[in-house]
Amino acid sequence: MKVLLTGSCGYIGSHTLVELLDRGYEVVGIDNFSNSKREVIDNIKKITGKDFVFYEGDVCDKTILEKIFNENKIDIVIHFAGYKAVGESTLKPLMYYRNNIDSTLSLLEVMDEYNCHNFIFSSSATVYGKPHTLPIKENFPLSTTNPYGTTKLTIEYILKDLYKSNNDWNIVILRYFNPVGAHESGLIGEEPQGIPNNLMPYIVRVASGELEQLSIFGNDYNTPDGTGVRDYIHVVDLAKGHIKALEKLEKENSGIYIYNLGTGVGYSVLDMVKAFEESTGKKVNYKIVERRAGDIATCYSDPQKAKNELHWEATKTLNDMCKDSW
Ligand code: NAD
Ligand code: UDP
Repeated sequence: MKVLLTGSCGYIGSHTLVELLDRGYEVVGIDNFSNSKREVIDNIKKITGKDFVFYEGDVCDKTILEKIFNENKIDIVIHFAGYKAVGESTLKPLMYYRNNIDSTLSLLEVMDEYNCHNFIFSSSATVYGKPHTLPIKENFPLSTTNPYGTTKLTIEYILKDLYKSNNDWNIVILRYFNPVGAHESGLIGEEPQGIPNNLMPYIVRVASGELEQLSIFGNDYNTPDGTGVRDYIHVVDLAKGHIKALEKLEKENSGIYIYNLGTGVGYSVLDMVKAFEESTGKKVNYKIVERRAGDIATCYSDPQKAKNELHWEATKTLNDMCKDSW
């Protein structure tokens, strides 16, 4: 079984690549390093003791995709490549629409050309917009609050239309909640360029002294301690969810399946600060500031569908997430 990973050197792609190699899958990766570093390739090989084929290039570019499909008999594609910063997407919407949608269209067209119809897509909890009730189930109404989210939702619609038009397609859409943590080796992880937007990488930089203080965006939400609540999931658990999705596609001939990948448990920002301090013994200085525009109070998944149908569930603890992030 040969698996093509787009965005293979990024945060979630690299952890999934490790899990695939550990299970004996043959892997082909493509990345343009727009948000990752070349050394990830060697570090994946160090962790697994295994090799994989890698192409440097842009997934929007059909020429390199055709070269990959010509040179390798690809059975399944996992599509991670894309831009993911919500704030940046509001400032540069065209860049987000171009990269996220164009890369997906090029990829799907070339897959169809080469008769490869097994596809796993990285979607996001952001497609639920502002949920009216919790926990969030897959059949909840969909909406978005920013261009990044709209790219994800648009791609979901494209995939649904594609499946309707041709039942040869065999598609899994995975809606991730909040991935944190890193491989326990410390050789791969999340390395945002510049000042991080997300909570956990920010906490890590404050604890290491690179940044002075965490700004907590609001303590007047309708949550137990007033700070925002999210469903944080260890990236290795998330990576394992992709293996289960892949096994599902190996079993099915055709279909379109959608799963939440989360733990089903919500933690507040203050819970995260406290857990991090306890797990690492490091102090995290913080101050309470204004709410961040566009944030919702609470977001956590109902992961039961993935448990029932993929036989997957998150097993790592909050302590693992904090320790491995550090
Ligand atoms: P990441 O930025 O770490 O990884 C994405 C990788 O894709 C990077 O290595 C980047 O260089 C590469 N890339 C981007 N555009 C490309 C292109 N056109 N051609 C080739 N390579 C390209 O992000 P991640 O956290 O690993 O996220 C992976 C996927 O999961 C993304 O689609 C993201 O939107 C989605 N997602 C992420 C989160 C999260 O919080 N990390 C949550 C929900 C969904
Ligand atoms: N958050 C915060 N300070 C930060 C970054 C995030 O207080 O510097 C809060 C944010 O308001 C939200 C939670 O942490 O309640 C998770 O935010 P993140 O950006 O990591 O994920 P998302 O908003 O996508 O759920």
